[in-house]
Amino acid sequence: MDAHADGVQWMCGEIGEVDRCGTSFLVVSVGSDPRVADVVGQWVRTAEAVAPVRLLVLDSLDSPGELAAFDAELGTSVVGVRIHIAGGQADVLAATAYAARRGVLPAEMSTFAVDSGDLRMYCAHCRQIFRVSARAGETTRCPGCARILEIHRHSSRMLGAFLASCVSVPRESVPAVSAEE
Ligand SMILES: [Zn+2]
Repeated sequence: MDAHADGVQWMCGEIGEVDRCGTSFLVVSVGSDPRVADVVGQWVRTAEAVAPVRLLVLDSLDSPGELAAFDAELGTSVVGVRIHIAGGQADVLAATAYAARRGVLPAEMSTFAVDSGDLRMYCAHCRQIFRVSARAGETTRCPGCARILEIHRHSSRMLGAFLASCVSVPRESVPAVSAEE
């Protein structure tokens, strides 16, 4: 898959290296896919040889309780922490955006998506984010405004979503929403 999201290593890519300059590590496992456990286990084993590791296991990031747990871990993180997040694509996008809005820098975070079955999509027309079962490059109907959208192979780290716009509208006329850095 050639879709791209800042800071997210996709399933076909290499699992992000553990930064040996990290002073502590927060490893976040999202979902029950066994491949998530494999990736997380690899990170934990490597990181434990470098610095203290905290492991947070979540089912998803959709529930307020789990988001609060993630938020609490981010809140106790200090300078020098390195954050590793593995899960399904939509959850990884959501976690990345949440951490970015909490001030986590790209260099402090490494992510790995084990599947691309669903994703978060930002509709340029109704300006909402939806979780959809589609892949970048495909078209889908917006659950908000019902337009037929093309999901671009381009994502915003701050939104944690792939950008999508109406297939009949020239791309130049779509408002710029990129929050890329
Ligand atoms: Zn829409």
